[in-house]
Amino acid sequence: MKLQRNQKMELYQIHILAFAALICCTSTAHGWGIHGHLITCRIAQPRLSKAAAEAVSQLLPAYADNDLGSLCSWADRVKFRYHWSSALHYIDTPDQLCSYQYTRDCKDEDGIKDRCVAGAIYNYTNQLITYNNANSQYNLTEALLFLAHFIGDIHQPLHVGFTSDRGGNTIDVHWYTRKTVLHHVWDDNIIETAEERFFDSNVEELINTLQTNITTVWASQAKAWEACTKTACPDAYSSEGIKAACDWAYKGVSNGSVLQDDYFLSRYPVVNMRLAQGGVRLAATLNRIFG
Ligand SMILES: [Zn+2]
Repeated sequence: MKLQRNQKMELYQIHILAFAALICCTSTAHGWGIHGHLITCRIAQPRLSKAAAEAVSQLLPAYADNDLGSLCSWADRVKFRYHWSSALHYIDTPDQLCSYQYTRDCKDEDGIKDRCVAGAIYNYTNQLITYNNANSQYNLTEALLFLAHFIGDIHQPLHVGFTSDRGGNTIDVHWYTRKTVLHHVWDDNIIETAEERFFDSNVEELINTLQTNITTVWASQAKAWEACTKTACPDAYSSEGIKAACDWAYKGVSNGSVLQDDYFLSRYPVVNMRLAQGGVRLAATLNRIFG
């Protein structure tokens, strides 16, 4: 059958809509949601040294208007184009062990070594170190956007989760009355509910509160969060991550659990702390990279 031009156009639009729906509804599997990443990058950027702030502003595309936060979820959006990158957002560790070891765990589903979020953080750190070499062979804009995103992801406790449940992706739960999976509760729901309940649905208010806490109640801890004798320290963050996953995310949850105030109110401080740590450490890592 020969289609009229406008029928073809309609079909084309339907395809676009279907594709958009696919992106919207399947891309939540790995990573803090958009707000989690925004929060991490917004905490990090004002903490950059002069040299790091200049490098970041040079590397960001002009349309980002020097706002790292606006592109902090870029790595999630390119998963379809850069199919190879989807394994770089998380680490699968052995079931129930509650421990992480780089050489044992940092590999993708095919067993290819270094393909996990910790390996990706090392890799993009090494690329960014070439920033001052006139003939760097890397796309350093992409390296920066990947690094900023992955330092966020590695702080989401279920990004260093058990292998058989794919970091809580196969654990069906209810978040209050809504059906979801445990992984999504930690990517998005806890943050969303906190914004609604405590910040008048305004993410900027949540960011301000975390920033204030970092310079007041958490000031001495925040110094310790930055500590790293190498340029990047993702292994320490992964070990903390799987411990938080066991102690808080998985604890008391099974398939079909209904999670509400008890769970929300006890886990929300953990999410707050991990977002703050992610932001402080992203800045510290960029400061070590760019001097
Ligand atoms: Zn991610």
